[in-house]
Amino acid sequence: MTHPAAIPSSSASSNAPSTGEAPKRQRRPPRRVEVSKIEILSPAMRRITLKGAELEGFPVTGPASYIKLIFPEPGQTEPTRPLPDGPRAVSMRTYTPLVVRPEALEVDVDFVLHGEGPASTWAAQAAVGQVLFLMGPGPGYAVDTAATQHLLIADDSALPAVETILAALPATAHAQVLLEVISNAEQRVLHSAAQLDVRWLARGTDHRTAGEPLAKALRALPSIATEARIYLACEAAAMRRIRQLLIDDLGVSRSQIVGRGYWKLDVVNHPDHDYGDDA
Ligand SMILES: Cc1cc2nc3c(=O)[nH]c(=O)nc-3n(C[C@H](O)[C@H](O)[C@H](O)COP(=O)(O)OP(=O)(O)OC[C@H]3O[C@@H](n4cnc5c(N)ncnc54)[C@H](O)[C@@H]3O)c2cc1C
Repeated sequence: MTHPAAIPSSSASSNAPSTGEAPKRQRRPPRRVEVSKIEILSPAMRRITLKGAELEGFPVTGPASYIKLIFPEPGQTEPTRPLPDGPRAVSMRTYTPLVVRPEALEVDVDFVLHGEGPASTWAAQAAVGQVLFLMGPGPGYAVDTAATQHLLIADDSALPAVETILAALPATAHAQVLLEVISNAEQRVLHSAAQLDVRWLARGTDHRTAGEPLAKALRALPSIATEARIYLACEAAAMRRIRQLLIDDLGVSRSQIVGRGYWKLDVVNHPDHDYGDDA
């Protein structure tokens, strides 16, 4: 089941007087941020640092959490500041806060340049001083730090999420990491205290084959530890197929897997809460 995008307020009205009605969910006010730095990590990945006084109080986020970014509409140089409970901005998309530096009032976000779309198109032309609005954060993945075996299966859209998970793993953990990217030029060094076995899988530019390299690599694995914690995040239909592959053919139990659809082929602004639990 997919759920509509909603970012709960940190100040949920737990001490409000009971009226018998469910408390109205309030969205946190959007924060105005400016691009302060742009790094070309690889042909299809840009690291963009967003900075601003309105990031005061923005928390350090946990692994694979998310933010919503609001991009300018065509013809705008700066997006209109959305009203806290007003209509949802059309050009709002979901991204991973890769690194949060509260003292510098900065958040780093890695953007895949996948082609056309308000977010990808914006990231390709981003320049220092440009303005976005940022909402969130929303919750991510509860890393089981007691587990010694982890299998992380992701495409490039979830590479930042994987990096935040790797940063949270202890030295006692072993992580097998399968990463599907457009080409081998996207490879980069990943950091973790855990022991890593990383495989980069080139998909090519035809997004219609999304998930195929991941499925092929999974079939070729000698085995998957019965106690492995598995995080799977990629194109939504591919995520469902790979989850079935893990369960039906590779002997994994459903409870070992956390699945996330990060984008959907031919769908604009796929929802941020696609857990694939309709499959
Ligand atoms: C929790 C969460 C965290 C995410 N974090 C990140 C992140 O840190 N970095 C990141 O780059 N993405 C991330 N994504 C994915 C990102 O939200 C989507 O890729 C989003 O659709 C991009 O918006 P857009 O405006 O570029 O394209 P849209 O307007 O949404 O879509 C336009 C077209 O592009 C296609 N498309 C969209 N995304 C991709 C893609 N990645 N590859 C190929 N085709 C695509 C769609 O199928 C559609 O046909 C995250 C998603 C979720 C749910």
